[in-house]
Amino acid sequence: MGVAGSPASAVSSKRFLFLFSDTGGGHRASAQAVKDEMARLYGDAAVVEMVDIFVEMRRWPFDRFPELYPVAVGLNGIPWHVGYHLSDTMPMVRLLSGAVWPYVGPSLCRLLEQHPSDVMVSFHGVPNAALLFARRKMMLRNPFAIVTLDLVSVHAGWFTPGAHLYIVPTEAARQRALRAGVTAKRIRVIGMPTRRSFVEIRDMTQTEARDRLGLPQDRPIVLMIGGGEGMGPLVPVVREIAGCRPDAHLVVIAGRNQALYNALRALDVPVPLRVEGFVTNIAVWMRAADVLVTKAGPNTLAEAFIVGLPLVLYAAIPGQEEGNILHVVENHAGVWTPRPRAAADAVMDLLAHPAQRSAMAACSQALARPYATEEIARHLWDLRR
Ligand code: UDP
Repeated sequence: MGVAGSPASAVSSKRFLFLFSDTGGGHRASAQAVKDEMARLYGDAAVVEMVDIFVEMRRWPFDRFPELYPVAVGLNGIPWHVGYHLSDTMPMVRLLSGAVWPYVGPSLCRLLEQHPSDVMVSFHGVPNAALLFARRKMMLRNPFAIVTLDLVSVHAGWFTPGAHLYIVPTEAARQRALRAGVTAKRIRVIGMPTRRSFVEIRDMTQTEARDRLGLPQDRPIVLMIGGGEGMGPLVPVVREIAGCRPDAHLVVIAGRNQALYNALRALDVPVPLRVEGFVTNIAVWMRAADVLVTKAGPNTLAEAFIVGLPLVLYAAIPGQEEGNILHVVENHAGVWTPRPRAAADAVMDLLAHPAQRSAMAACSQALARPYATEEIARHLWDLRR
């Protein structure tokens, strides 16, 4: 493999341990994006191992987190909301992590022993305090970085002091880190990691993207996504939008949610509707679209900013995604429409007013950080013992 970053060709390889979990689609997508970028920049010199920390710890119920997460989050679910806010202080993070430590500590230490690394990176907010306990117990001295994956309302768990580097996507996130007690010199405001395909897609025209996907050229495309797990009331949203009979082609990406996929395929609506399951070429789908109706997931938003899509936010996970709504709305990149009827009205409005749509698209693009992944990869590479 070619080495794009010249310094790497002269130095020996480095092992990176990327800790993530499949709780939602975003942690894996982000870790994979940085891994791919390290391969592009440093070739075989960067040896990156990706580990689902909860699954590999093999401690119930943590090892079931990927399956339980979509159920536990249950959009607008009060228990998640309350739990999120109650635990969102540093004393609570330490207390809870300390409480589970006797149970998970040995497994976590075993996991770190089995995956030795020169640089350890966390792409998850939950395990960081426990990881810091484990590092102290094992006297690990290798650099530890945390790549934060929420835009604004970042949970305190991401900012447990003690890591060498905290990479955050926005100034609002930096302020949260400072309030949590992280030293200013350890924080870098860079952006969300997104896949390289979102940089490359800027060379593709909308016409080409539609050709590639077999989508029509003669009408606007309204794309709908509920994150990796197809969360939120997408069926009523689709029904409401279709019921308005827009002169548009609707596309829904159901992600890994098979029940949603089946329900959408069974819908009888008066406008053209394409339903997809989990796709690996989201960048092309976004490039083909004129409007994105989405859950306020941080990764999907960061991707949509790069493509410059006007946004209709139909749902947000309580707690961690609430700040994303403000980020989008205050920057005029989109609207917040938590009811299906309001989402349909917003879509109809944008379809009827191309100038308004273009202005919103420009505001969305103004929030883009297309080269964040490259910068993150370079910062991680530069971490030394
Ligand atoms: N995604 C994907 N294929 C799909 C659906 C989603 O690659 O079919 C990706 C999407 O591009 C984004 C991530 O999954 O990178 C979703 O992350 P987000 O933070 O928006 O929501 P989450 O799924 O983590 O709740």
